Amino acid sequence: MNTILLAITAVVLVVLLALVLRPLQEEVEPRQEEDERISPLLRGINYLLSDEPDLALQEMVQVARLRSEAADVYMALGEMFRSRGEIGRAVRIHQNLLARPDLPKSLHLQAHMALAKDFQTGGLLDRALLQYDKALTLQSDHADALEASLRIREQSSEWLLAEELLSRLEQVRGASYGSRRAYLFSELATLCLAQGQVEEAATYAARAIELDKSCAPARMVAIKLALEAGNTDLAIEEVQSLRQLSSEHFALIIPGLLAYPEFYDRQGHALLMDMWRRKPDAELALSWLEALAGKRGVAQAESLYAELAFTPATLRESLRLQAVLGNEHDAHARFARQWRKRAKNYVCETCGIEVVDVRWQCPQCHSWGTLHPKHEERI
Ligand SMILES: [Zn+2]
Repeated sequence: MNTILLAITAVVLVVLLALVLRPLQEEVEPRQEEDERISPLLRGINYLLSDEPDLALQEMVQVARLRSEAADVYMALGEMFRSRGEIGRAVRIHQNLLARPDLPKSLHLQAHMALAKDFQTGGLLDRALLQYDKALTLQSDHADALEASLRIREQSSEWLLAEELLSRLEQVRGASYGSRRAYLFSELATLCLAQGQVEEAATYAARAIELDKSCAPARMVAIKLALEAGNTDLAIEEVQSLRQLSSEHFALIIPGLLAYPEFYDRQGHALLMDMWRRKPDAELALSWLEALAGKRGVAQAESLYAELAFTPATLRESLRLQAVLGNEHDAHARFARQWRKRAKNYVCETCGIEVVDVRWQCPQCHSWGTLHPKHEERI
């Protein structure tokens, strides 16, 4: 509600300013014409205040000649409709503006950006991209347009196009986004691996690791590639690097190790146990127990539990343990399992959003590699 009030206030202020300043600036224009231009705007605002947005729009588009003040009013109105989620109206306003032959050149860029945001908010990503492209044709170093296009490419998993935009953004800002680029390459590597393009997956994973040694998803691809190729020495080396450089995300590789039973039985189990003894962290124990129970059944998880001698230190850890090992006839264990399915286990260190499963890019602030397992106070 506050945004709406603010937007309306902004619109009213702009019009009032236009009314007050105009006579000082332009004495020559006939008074009559002035009134004809202003009155539809005032009527429009009146409709707006009485919550009749369609009538307000009708009035506003009737302003015969567009002056920069009137264009500002349209822009403010468009913003207001978008912030209220009325995307269709916002689009109509910005399209009307752009269709006018008398729109000042200085406002073209602003109008394309506004229309792009309308489409993006409405989920029409292709149309949004087209408008950002038009804005970039007018000003090739427009950082906001580049950043917004990059987001859309990331959202659509078009990683190479995203990387191209990231390079342009680096040039414009004079910054270096090595780690962000590493995550784009790691996404490419993961995609190639899923499609069986082993060589490409290896190339992209290596480029990502070169850019950011702690890029966990790239290390995970490298581990799977080494296991796939039967190169156990390299796999062990990569697993150790992941543990050392990205310990927060280390546990995510455990299901991947269990997918190669021969490796797990011969080396994997001992490797994980050694890591646990050196640094007994709950995330390792719980993820291991969960993965083992899922892959080989609860009996094996129970014997691992005994071997680990793990004791939960927080309520969350205790519930996770119960969800894995709890007796199915026990009501508490049933509750724990239900809780585990929808419990938010990851939190973004940048914006604080909590999510159920890990993601490499935060769904809220779009930072890469900032979602970590949640830690809670020890009981
Ligand atoms: Zn975030």
